[in-house]
Amino acid sequence: MSSLKFEAAVTEILPRSRNVKSFRFKRPEGFDFKAGQYIVVTIAVQGEDVSKPFSLSSSPTEEGHIEFTKKLTGHVFSNALDSLEVGDVMMISGPYGKMSFEGEHERIALLSGGIGITPMRSICKYCTDMGLDTDVILICSDRSEEDMVFQAELDEMICQNHGLHVFQTLTRASDAWKGTRGRINAAIIENKVPDYRDREFFICGPPAMLGSMLEMLHSIGVDDKKIKKESLTGY
Ligand SMILES: Cc1cc2nc3c(=O)[nH]c(=O)nc-3n(C[C@H](O)[C@H](O)[C@H](O)COP(=O)(O)OP(=O)(O)OC[C@H]3O[C@@H](n4cnc5c(N)ncnc54)[C@H](O)[C@@H]3O)c2cc1C
Repeated sequence: MSSLKFEAAVTEILPRSRNVKSFRFKRPEGFDFKAGQYIVVTIAVQGEDVSKPFSLSSSPTEEGHIEFTKKLTGHVFSNALDSLEVGDVMMISGPYGKMSFEGEHERIALLSGGIGITPMRSICKYCTDMGLDTDVILICSDRSEEDMVFQAELDEMICQNHGLHVFQTLTRASDAWKGTRGRINAAIIENKVPDYRDREFFICGPPAMLGSMLEMLHSIGVDDKKIKKESLTGY
């Protein structure tokens, strides 16, 4: 799959949470990608072109548009992106990345930390739209209820795809939260993914989350060959 470089105008901006927004573009002809891959986006920041990688949160099955989803950090690049409006243009190149899924495995487990949910949304949507038999367990870790993104979409996918199971854990949940608390750990994996030794794992999140997930999976005997990962370097 060769990569393309193209100019793209923003067609839609979708608020996803208090500090997360999705940016959509018309999908150019010939732009093929695999669920889980990323693009590199270039915008002008204080007069200079700055490029950053973003996972595609859209699925290859969504033919009309491509989408990336940014956590707004208040830093310079983030602010420049957040100031863009529908019709504004940026350079996009891609696709890149090896943490992708096209139905190669019967059972997969997706572990996401924060905005690391973006490629997982793409994979879940791909499996659902393609009607794949793949059994997918997605475990998302976020700070609080306000930081959860794509919940409504994932709920909709669960209704269509009986092989998709989604679990949420929160590290700073409100008192009202009745679900799991804390980071993803061995006990959560053993409980929610009892067949973890026979699954392929996909992990995406900030570097520290990725490191601790790898250590934890190795400690319970998951073979490194069964783990695909994407580190959201830059946080
Ligand atoms: C493969 C890949 C996929 C990714 N996918 C996503 C994704 O889907 N969604 C997403 O949101 N991110 C994703 N990222 C991370 C993304 O590329 C950015 O690095 C990240 O969003 C931080 O961007 P920013 O706007 O805060 O950048 P910047 O403004 O460049 O800030 C980057 C860092 O620099 C420091 N910094 C910047 N300005 C200041 C300042 N004024 N004072 C002090 N410190 C400062 C901060 O530590 C900050 O965290 C991905 C990264 C990789 C490698």
